[in-house]
Amino acid sequence: MSHHLVVLGAGYAGLVAAKRAARRLRHSDVTITLINAGDRFVERVRLHQLAAGQRLNELPLPDLLRGTPIGLLNARACAADAAARTVHLDRAPHSVGYDTLVVALGSRPHLGTVPGAAEHAHTLDGAGEAERLHRHVSRLAPGSTVAVVGGGLTGLETVAELAETYPALRMTLFAATGIGDGLSPRAQRHLQRALSRLGVTAHPGTRVTEVHPCAVLSDDGTPYTADAVLWATGFRAPSLAGEAGFATDGHGRMTVDQTLRSVSHPEVYAVGDAAAGHTGGAGTTRMSCQTAMPMGRQVADVITARLTGREPEPARIRYVFTNISLGRHDGIVQFTRADDSPRAAALTGRTAAAFKEAVVRSTVLAVRRG
Ligand SMILES: Cc1cc2nc3c(=O)[nH]c(=O)nc-3n(C[C@H](O)[C@H](O)[C@H](O)COP(=O)(O)OP(=O)(O)OC[C@H]3O[C@@H](n4cnc5c(N)ncnc54)[C@H](O)[C@@H]3O)c2cc1C
Repeated sequence: MSHHLVVLGAGYAGLVAAKRAARRLRHSDVTITLINAGDRFVERVRLHQLAAGQRLNELPLPDLLRGTPIGLLNARACAADAAARTVHLDRAPHSVGYDTLVVALGSRPHLGTVPGAAEHAHTLDGAGEAERLHRHVSRLAPGSTVAVVGGGLTGLETVAELAETYPALRMTLFAATGIGDGLSPRAQRHLQRALSRLGVTAHPGTRVTEVHPCAVLSDDGTPYTADAVLWATGFRAPSLAGEAGFATDGHGRMTVDQTLRSVSHPEVYAVGDAAAGHTGGAGTTRMSCQTAMPMGRQVADVITARLTGREPEPARIRYVFTNISLGRHDGIVQFTRADDSPRAAALTGRTAAAFKEAVVRSTVLAVRRG
């Protein structure tokens, strides 16, 4: 009987994994099914642009899979039964059995336990939520305040994009730690200049502890006006893997060995944000497109090797740079060492913006190719 390889999630990691596996296993008796909650590929790295009202390219999954033998199931995976090697879905066929499973379900914004965050704050949890934020922000009167909570890459890119698009709004940025931590001194200076040029009021070292309909409250009790709030403090992997009994870390990511295979269930693999992969010297993988795509390629190679009786090579994830867009005409490309620490070298300004745009376009070319 044909071996059934099921890939959960058609984002950067899952789509690349499924397409590469299909190519590499084309002469083997393997059936590949890709299960995704939506019927299009979402360019998640552009969600801040969608929140600012820009249109994104339509990338229907059937188009991206045309000419491959991959079966696409447009359904949400609700649970996995590890003992029965079955995934349960929210619609027909309701369950799918697997011989090998790749979990590539990405991650979701983590709202934590901050009172009011779930009720009053927006997130960038997919295209629908980004469009909802845009509808809210675009209707605000001039002089209204938008608060972005989270000084990481998602918070920075979104506050800059919104500030550039809506100069009549007041933009505030809250970070429990510093803003742009992890950048070299030169890149840090550029970031500060860009935020002040865009009129963003930054509140580093300010932890937001409550969200109200028109304000946020910091840990020292100070209220800050906020007519719209974006919560962007971090992401967590979906609960499906942990609930199925697959070994996970404290962020819900699957714990995998050097070949991206679950340490608890050898027939299960994990890639992208859903996996805590190993890096060359930087601990576990950072949730990023930069690691999701190589993991997708490498899991396809590992599975191909095992299904064709060869010993797989360990996966190799290395960091080269971090890039941040600051609106459409400015940005930072921070070159990094293999352990993800910043080098002195960084690109800034228009060159960095053009570099980032080229990288983002190349990710779509890569998911088309697989
Ligand atoms: C605004 C923003 C900007 C970013 N910018 C950058 C950047 O510049 N560089 C960078 O490296 N990273 C960036 N990232 C992070 C990057 O987007 C993620 O790390 C990357 O998308 C992870 O890829 P993935 O394949 O693991 O998950 P995803 O791309 O999220 O794909 C997961 C897929 O699984 C599907 N799915 C989820 N749950 C289910 C379910 N239960 N059943 C079926 N399908 C399901 C989803 O619909 C989705 O298609 C950014 C993120 C955001 C939000």
